[in-house]
Amino acid sequence: MSKYLDLSLEEIHALLVKKEITPLTLVEEALSRIKEQEELNAFITINDKAKEIAQNLGEVEEDNLFFGIPIAIKDNIMTKDLRTTCASRMLENFIPIYDASVIEKIKEKKMIIIGKTNMDEFAMGSTSKTSFFGPPKNPVDKTKIAGGSSGGSASCVGADLVPFALGSDTGGSIRQPASYTGIVGMKPTYGRISRYGLVAFASSLDQIGPMTRNVYENALLLNLLVGHDAKDLTSAKKEEEDFTRKIGIPVKGMKIAVPKYFLSDIVKPIIRERIEEVIAFLKKEGLSVDIVDMKYLDHAVTLYQIIAMGEASSNLARFDGVRYGFRASDVKTVDEMYKKTRQLGFGDEVKRRIMVGSYLLSGKNAKIYYDKALSIRDDMKKEFDNVFASYDLILGPTTTTEAYSLEEDMSDPLKSFLDDVLVIPVNMAGLPSLNIPIGKTKENLPFGMQIIGNSFEEATIYQLASFLEGGIKDGRI
Ligand code: GLN
Repeated sequence: MSKYLDLSLEEIHALLVKKEITPLTLVEEALSRIKEQEELNAFITINDKAKEIAQNLGEVEEDNLFFGIPIAIKDNIMTKDLRTTCASRMLENFIPIYDASVIEKIKEKKMIIIGKTNMDEFAMGSTSKTSFFGPPKNPVDKTKIAGGSSGGSASCVGADLVPFALGSDTGGSIRQPASYTGIVGMKPTYGRISRYGLVAFASSLDQIGPMTRNVYENALLLNLLVGHDAKDLTSAKKEEEDFTRKIGIPVKGMKIAVPKYFLSDIVKPIIRERIEEVIAFLKKEGLSVDIVDMKYLDHAVTLYQIIAMGEASSNLARFDGVRYGFRASDVKTVDEMYKKTRQLGFGDEVKRRIMVGSYLLSGKNAKIYYDKALSIRDDMKKEFDNVFASYDLILGPTTTTEAYSLEEDMSDPLKSFLDDVLVIPVNMAGLPSLNIPIGKTKENLPFGMQIIGNSFEEATIYQLASFLEGGIKDGRI
């Protein structure tokens, strides 16, 4: 059995250039790994054209590292002629007629989409258990969740089925599953990557981002995804940049803040202790690390629920049985058709959020709840701005625990939000944040740390992340 996909991107590329392997070799290897690990349920759809695409890619482009490299795509990102379900019965048979802007970029670079990954229905959840297709599993221990909502993307990268995946992060959905599966996942600055073709959940928060096996390759993939897009009004007008450019530059003298909240007893002791070890290492290496007080952090989940559910209820109004996907049969009137379609097409969690969100936005409630939440969110952003006036980066754990059992009772809908208390503040403030793996429990389950940067400071995040990744790899931390 070949092991080309375990090599670094540069090594794979060199073999392609030397014609020792072809893109087809890589696609076949990925497909056979996916088949072997079918039990993970990481994919909803496999691209049955992947081999054909690989055979027709043409001459290897020597200056294009991504040429012929397989990538997995979260199933809420539109792929032309390839089923895109959002893990919902509503879109079970939906085949988009256009590509998301990120997919156009991926295809331009001649990457090969191997399949669409499993997720929470419409990205609503923290376990991927709300998927209509059953949950993906954690590759480290298949009795555990892979996290959510980008659980399938985390599962397939964590299991080394593919080196690259895309996820989306509205309230932690890239970083939390990355933490649970021991991979690297970036939620970029809001506006950094076009949302055109990402099925909208909460439009003021949603961001696509790269999920990879190491920091360097994460930065490389981000290079490919960014750029202004006239089709997304919130897309930032930024010059192209190389996100790897600071990797290797000494980090000595950097100023790091660690919010007290991130070290409080909501975080499991083993994770807190490991963060303390990272802090001690950084101090020894000549960085300054201060514990800071940030009083808005623990309000983030409350704000998130109001903003995300309100926006979701409005965004999901378009799924009415007329324009897309599923349509209920045996109905007498159009009104009945709408109702039955939505009743049967959506799962419980999605319906719950639409109902709560509709309530929050109706009549006077919009002012009382949504507008108020937006204004507190501004205060929260200002609190982050204050910290970044004196510090380069903020550190903390990504999750309060390691991945838990797939069987765990999640009937209390508020419980799963507790998984997200550490990741959601970043979405509220629109900031970039990266998960890197930092340790494992006695049962060998991974957990991660997040490095948060000021807006558009992804390159600085990668600089520190790569330094820490090196320190962990060679046992200095
Ligand atoms: N877990 C959060 C939720 O259920 C975040 C989901 C996401 O980031 N897509 O809403």
